[in-house]
Parts: sequence; structure tokens; C-alpha cells
Amino acid sequence: MSEIKGIRVLVVEDELALRRFLRTTLTAREFVVEEAETLRQAKLLVTSHPPEIILLDLGLPDGDGIDFTRELREWSQIPIVVISARGREEDKVTALDAGADDYLTKPFGVNELMARIRVALRHGQRHDKYPLPDQQVIEIGFLRMDLQRREVFSQGALVALTPIEYRLLLLMASNAGRVLTHRYILKEVWGAGYPHQPHTLRVFMAQLRRKVEPNPTRPQLLLTEMGVGYRLRDSWDGTAA
Ligand code: CA
Repeated sequence: MSEIKGIRVLVVEDELALRRFLRTTLTAREFVVEEAETLRQAKLLVTSHPPEIILLDLGLPDGDGIDFTRELREWSQIPIVVISARGREEDKVTALDAGADDYLTKPFGVNELMARIRVALRHGQRHDKYPLPDQQVIEIGFLRMDLQRREVFSQGALVALTPIEYRLLLLMASNAGRVLTHRYILKEVWGAGYPHQPHTLRVFMAQLRRKVEPNPTRPQLLLTEMGVGYRLRDSWDGTAA
């Protein structure tokens, strides 16, 4: 994991035990860790000494991490991974729609934490236009997208996608590893006047899975995040999701 060596991470967490755990875990992986116990401290650190990624608890003594996320997003795209005991779907949706990059529910494992951090760092700019300027091909497991020719292959076979399906797949693949909320996907794919019902998205996602997933009833790449949205896996080694 040499690509994260020396990366500055700000841990915003009022629980001492968890802060210690995160410091030990991240320092062992050669992150440079800074800590804030309150939103006030976090705001000071973010402006005086901007970190490259923020791990953010939601319930803090002087306010709510969601408000902090919204405020920060007005001027900064520093990746935020929310770490919270609130596991309800609507809390995840609120945090992600406020501009958080990902969400971990306590308790979580170290591997999961590191995976989310890697993905969030890679996609640092949430509103970056996709695909990357010089990127011509996206390849994840059995999926291959040729962005120049707008061609999609599943297990080597060309699949015919409608323009909407292509945009949907491109959005998911460009954000591989991240959970995208229903609202975010609808807005990005359909644009102004986008449909507001997650049902519309479910229909298109089902069509897309039928075309690209080897077994659409057990998707391997296009995963459902129940009640929140969808996530396209960022790697696939042939084992079940
Ligand atoms: Ca807390």
C-alpha cells in the first residue's frame, strides 16, 4: 500500500478509544494522522493545514458531521469517509448527498476501512467530470468499456446499450468502488428535470444487469446498496460478491 505513504488524514472523532485505534492503525500504514475532537477543531485544522482525506464521525459534541460536510463542500473537495454508529439507510443517504464520499458503520474492520480510504483517495474529486481526460478504456473483471468507440464488452462479447444505459454504466464505472445514491445517479444520468423516483433507476439497472452481468439475478459488479444506491466494484477476482 505504498501509494498512501505520507498521506495526511484528519480523524474527526470524539470517542477517545476509536481515535486511538484509528491513529494506531493508520500510522502503522504510514499515514500522517491529525486528530480533532470537535467540529471547531476540525474546521481550524482543515483551513490551517488541509488534510488529503477526512474520516468523520457524525455525532460530535459541538454539532453534526453532516453540516460540516455541507459547509466544507462549498469550497473543498477533500475526500470524506463518514464513520458513524448511525446505520440507518436515510442517514447514509443524507451523508452521501451532503457530499461525503463513502460511509462506514461502526464497528468496522481494518480491511474495510483501508478499502474505502483507497477508493475515496482515488476519486478525490467528487464532481470531476468523467471519464478522465486521457482514459480510453475501463476494464473491471469481465467488463470492458472502450470510451473512444463507446463500446461495451462483457466476457469479451459486445453488448448493445441504449444511450441511457451507457451513461449509467459509465457513471458507475468511472466511480468504481464508491456507493452512489439514487438521487446522485438520477441527476447525473438524466440531467435537469431528472426523474425523482428510485423506481425509474431500478428498471434501468435491471436492464443493464441483464446485458452485462453473467448472472443478472446475482450481480457480481453492479451491486445494490440497500435503500441507499448502487456501487460498481472496483475490482473483481472471479469470486462472488
Ligand atoms: Ca461521536
